[in-house]
Amino acid sequence: MAETIFADRVLIGGRIQKDVLIEIDDGRIGEIRINTSGNSSAFRVPSSCLVIPGFVDIHCHGFGPDSFGAGFASARRATLAHRARGTTSLVAGLVSSDTEDTSRAIASLATLTGEGIIDGVFLEGPFISVARRGAHREGFVRPVDLGLLSHWLEQSKGTIRMVTLAPELSGALDAIRFLVREGVVAAIGHTDATYEETRSAIDAGASVATHLGNGMPSLFARQPGPLLALMESPKVSCELIADGRHVHPCLVRYFVNHAISGVPIFVSDCLGVEGEGKHIALVSDRLVEMDDGAVVFKDNGKLAGTALPLSGILKSSVTKAGIDLITAVSAATIGPARTIGLEDRGKIETGYRADLVLLNGTSLDVARVMRCGNWVVEKHEYE
Ligand SMILES: [Zn+2]
Repeated sequence: MAETIFADRVLIGGRIQKDVLIEIDDGRIGEIRINTSGNSSAFRVPSSCLVIPGFVDIHCHGFGPDSFGAGFASARRATLAHRARGTTSLVAGLVSSDTEDTSRAIASLATLTGEGIIDGVFLEGPFISVARRGAHREGFVRPVDLGLLSHWLEQSKGTIRMVTLAPELSGALDAIRFLVREGVVAAIGHTDATYEETRSAIDAGASVATHLGNGMPSLFARQPGPLLALMESPKVSCELIADGRHVHPCLVRYFVNHAISGVPIFVSDCLGVEGEGKHIALVSDRLVEMDDGAVVFKDNGKLAGTALPLSGILKSSVTKAGIDLITAVSAATIGPARTIGLEDRGKIETGYRADLVLLNGTSLDVARVMRCGNWVVEKHEYE
């Protein structure tokens, strides 16, 4: 049955439109009328809220105590927690792990994808650089194994949407070509590659930079490294963990407003942390602390990821890095949706899936979420 929503302000076509009536029909956005008046049966959005598309997170590993690698029930809880915070489309990420454990996790995530709860699977590793592995366990990082990769793709029944690998590894370019042929996004990350090696990977079809600036060497005068190759290619979508910690706020601003030729996209890189307690827990069997939304290893003070949903990243990008809100919303919605091939997401437009976030215009907190035309009612159970 059709439902209508009336709002003072809605982000449509890159502009904030006023006095908007949106028809929701069978989970999709129907007719949109701008500069109109509401009707008595329409749901009235509070005037404090701006209506934006639901967030699309393509790099996320869990939430609270739950991880996408920890079985069906845990993965489902993590998804619902993100959904209640505005992430209406989510690709579940797995880090490098034991081969059998990865196979089991792929099988449960394929089921969750089949049920429409998540939007696919992302493998971060295990074919990455030992030197740049970050939070990945050394024992699980492997040389490129095309047979294993094709086994996982087959097992996932087409649900693996993206794989991160290091292009300098032997066989990596063949793996990138294989992924692209199979319709999977090849991402470059956790890499020690040179500028030239990175360019070759992009020429082979790699199209995403995994958390740009993290898990890769910095930019130096005589070593442009992977960073410049990724930033300057119009074919590459660059993931930014724009929390103000993983990338300096000034660099977030520079990347988004000036430096990136391709598409800047925001990701949460949100981790599920094991163990009790809100402030100290475990990642990869190492103690971590929570610090202003970042997850930090206790032994060396290095960053492991975040504990933030994408809505938290959006807020940080605006409040800490000074990104314009409309640009930030694009980087958290249509940018990642296009990158991963979710064609009917990330925009408020007739025919798109009815995924909406009611964002408080002042605090930038998520007030209410609609997914597939239904209001999300899950409680914020980890708060
Ligand atoms: Zn990573």
